[in-house]
Amino acid sequence: MNNEKEKVLISACLLGEKCRYDGLAKEVKGIINLTKYYDLIPVCPEVSGGLKTPRTPSEIKDNKVISKTGKDVTENYLNGAYWASSICNIYHIKLAILKEDSPSCGSHFIHDGSFSGKKIPGKGMTTRKLEKQGIKVINEEEALDLLKQLESKGK
Ligand code: SF4
Repeated sequence: MNNEKEKVLISACLLGEKCRYDGLAKEVKGIINLTKYYDLIPVCPEVSGGLKTPRTPSEIKDNKVISKTGKDVTENYLNGAYWASSICNIYHIKLAILKEDSPSCGSHFIHDGSFSGKKIPGKGMTTRKLEKQGIKVINEEEALDLLKQLESKGK
Protein backbone atom coordinates (compact mmCIF):
# COMPACT_ATOMS: atom_id res chain seq x y z
CA MET A 1 0.00 0.00 0.00
CA ASN A 2 1.26 3.46 -0.85
CA ASN A 3 0.85 5.77 2.15
CA GLU A 4 2.85 8.58 0.65
CA LYS A 5 1.25 11.98 1.16
CA GLU A 6 0.72 14.39 -1.70
CA LYS A 7 3.55 16.91 -1.95
CA VAL A 8 2.63 20.58 -1.76
CA LEU A 9 4.94 23.52 -2.35
CA ILE A 10 4.84 26.25 0.32
CA SER A 11 6.49 29.64 0.79
CA ALA A 12 9.23 29.00 3.34
CA CYS A 13 8.48 32.23 5.24
CA LEU A 14 4.99 30.92 6.09
CA LEU A 15 6.63 28.09 8.04
CA GLY A 16 8.87 30.45 9.99
CA GLU A 17 11.95 30.61 7.77
CA LYS A 18 13.53 34.06 8.12
CA CYS A 19 13.90 34.59 4.39
CA ARG A 20 11.88 37.75 3.81
CA TYR A 21 13.43 40.94 2.47
CA ASP A 22 13.51 42.35 6.04
CA GLY A 23 15.25 39.28 7.44
CA LEU A 24 12.09 38.11 9.21
CA ALA A 25 9.61 35.28 8.71
CA LYS A 26 5.86 35.53 8.23
CA GLU A 27 4.86 32.43 10.11
CA VAL A 28 1.18 31.59 10.00
CA LYS A 29 -0.06 29.94 13.17
CA GLY A 30 -1.51 26.50 12.56
CA ILE A 31 -0.41 26.18 8.95
CA ILE A 32 2.10 23.52 9.98
CA ASN A 33 -0.89 21.27 10.76
CA LEU A 34 -1.24 20.75 7.03
CA THR A 35 1.59 18.26 7.43
CA LYS A 36 -1.08 15.84 8.72
CA TYR A 37 -2.34 15.70 5.13
CA TYR A 38 0.51 16.80 2.90
CA ASP A 39 4.27 16.68 2.59
CA LEU A 40 5.10 20.38 2.60
CA ILE A 41 8.07 21.34 0.44
CA PRO A 42 9.31 24.81 1.49
CA VAL A 43 10.86 27.15 -1.05
CA CYS A 44 11.81 30.81 -1.14
CA PRO A 45 12.00 31.81 -4.79
CA GLU A 46 13.80 35.08 -4.05
CA VAL A 47 16.62 33.38 -2.16
CA SER A 48 16.75 30.60 -4.76
CA GLY A 49 16.91 33.28 -7.43
CA GLY A 50 20.17 34.54 -5.95
CA LEU A 51 19.04 37.35 -3.66
CA LYS A 52 20.42 37.83 -0.17
CA THR A 53 18.49 38.10 3.08
CA PRO A 54 17.91 40.80 4.16
CA ARG A 55 17.55 42.53 0.79
CA THR A 56 16.17 45.75 -0.61
CA PRO A 57 12.42 45.37 -1.12
CA SER A 58 11.23 45.12 -4.71
CA GLU A 59 7.90 45.55 -6.46
CA ILE A 60 6.51 44.71 -9.88
CA LYS A 61 6.07 47.58 -12.28
CA ASP A 62 5.22 47.09 -15.97
CA ASN A 63 6.09 43.39 -15.76
CA LYS A 64 9.55 44.10 -14.41
CA VAL A 65 10.68 43.73 -10.82
CA ILE A 66 12.43 46.84 -9.59
CA SER A 67 14.08 47.31 -6.20
CA LYS A 68 13.39 50.34 -4.03
CA THR A 69 16.79 51.69 -5.07
CA GLY A 70 15.89 51.37 -8.76
CA LYS A 71 17.77 48.19 -9.64
CA ASP A 72 16.14 45.86 -12.15
CA VAL A 73 16.06 42.48 -10.39
CA THR A 74 13.65 40.81 -12.81
CA GLU A 75 16.19 38.12 -13.70
CA ASN A 76 16.54 37.04 -10.07
CA TYR A 77 12.78 36.76 -9.80
CA LEU A 78 12.52 34.77 -13.02
CA ASN A 79 15.31 32.47 -11.86
CA GLY A 80 13.49 31.93 -8.57
CA ALA A 81 10.26 31.17 -10.42
CA TYR A 82 12.12 28.70 -12.61
CA TRP A 83 13.57 27.02 -9.51
CA ALA A 84 10.13 26.65 -7.90
CA SER A 85 8.72 25.35 -11.16
CA SER A 86 11.49 22.74 -11.41
CA ILE A 87 10.82 21.53 -7.87
CA CYS A 88 7.15 21.12 -8.82
CA ASN A 89 8.11 19.12 -11.89
CA ILE A 90 10.45 16.85 -9.97
CA TYR A 91 7.87 16.07 -7.28
CA HIS A 92 4.77 16.17 -9.51
CA ILE A 93 3.33 18.96 -7.37
CA LYS A 94 -0.16 20.19 -8.26
CA LEU A 95 -0.81 22.61 -5.38
CA ALA A 96 1.25 25.51 -4.03
CA ILE A 97 0.59 27.62 -0.94
CA LEU A 98 2.26 30.95 -1.51
CA LYS A 99 2.43 34.11 0.58
CA GLU A 100 0.00 36.78 -0.54
CA ASP A 101 1.18 40.28 -1.62
CA SER A 102 4.75 39.25 -2.49
CA PRO A 103 6.25 40.12 -5.90
CA SER A 104 7.21 36.44 -6.14
CA CYS A 105 4.49 34.61 -4.27
CA GLY A 106 1.34 36.80 -4.40
CA SER A 107 -1.63 35.07 -6.01
CA HIS A 108 -4.40 37.69 -5.72
CA PHE A 109 -2.61 40.89 -4.74
CA ILE A 110 0.78 42.53 -5.18
CA HIS A 111 2.09 45.99 -4.35
CA ASP A 112 1.56 48.58 -7.05
CA GLY A 113 5.21 49.41 -7.75
CA SER A 114 5.20 52.77 -5.96
CA PHE A 115 6.56 51.51 -2.60
CA SER A 116 3.69 53.32 -0.91
CA GLY A 117 2.14 50.22 0.61
CA LYS A 118 -0.71 50.27 -1.93
CA LYS A 119 -1.85 46.86 -3.13
CA ILE A 120 -3.46 46.04 -6.45
CA PRO A 121 -4.92 42.85 -7.91
CA GLY A 122 -2.07 40.87 -9.46
CA LYS A 123 0.22 37.89 -9.24
CA GLY A 124 3.87 37.47 -8.35
CA MET A 125 6.44 36.10 -10.79
CA THR A 126 6.55 32.59 -9.28
CA THR A 127 2.76 32.35 -9.12
CA ARG A 128 2.53 33.30 -12.80
CA LYS A 129 5.01 30.61 -13.77
CA LEU A 130 3.39 27.88 -11.66
CA GLU A 131 -0.14 28.67 -12.83
CA LYS A 132 1.06 28.55 -16.43
CA GLN A 133 2.13 24.96 -15.86
CA GLY A 134 -1.26 24.07 -14.39
CA ILE A 135 -0.43 24.23 -10.69
CA LYS A 136 -3.13 25.59 -8.40
CA VAL A 137 -1.80 28.43 -6.25
CA ILE A 138 -3.56 29.42 -3.03
CA ASN A 139 -2.60 31.92 -0.36
CA GLU A 140 -2.15 31.41 3.38
CA GLU A 141 -5.79 32.24 4.22
CA GLU A 142 -7.07 29.75 1.66
CA ALA A 143 -4.63 27.19 3.02
CA LEU A 144 -6.10 27.59 6.51
CA ASP A 145 -9.60 27.17 5.03
CA LEU A 146 -8.44 24.01 3.30
CA LEU A 147 -7.05 22.74 6.61
CA LYS A 148 -10.38 23.41 8.34
CA GLN A 149 -12.23 21.52 5.62
CA LEU A 150 -9.92 18.54 5.91
CA GLU A 151 -10.18 18.53 9.70
CA SER A 152 -13.97 18.83 9.63
CA LYS A 153 -14.13 15.74 7.43
CA GLY A 154 -12.36 14.02 10.32
CA LYS A 155 -9.54 13.00 8.10
S1 SF4 B 1 9.82 35.11 -1.92
FE1 SF4 B 1 8.00 34.05 -1.18
S2 SF4 B 1 8.88 32.54 0.25
FE2 SF4 B 1 10.46 34.06 -0.07
S3 SF4 B 1 10.18 35.54 1.58
FE3 SF4 B 1 9.03 36.29 -0.19
S4 SF4 B 1 6.97 35.54 0.14
FE4 SF4 B 1 8.29 34.34 1.45
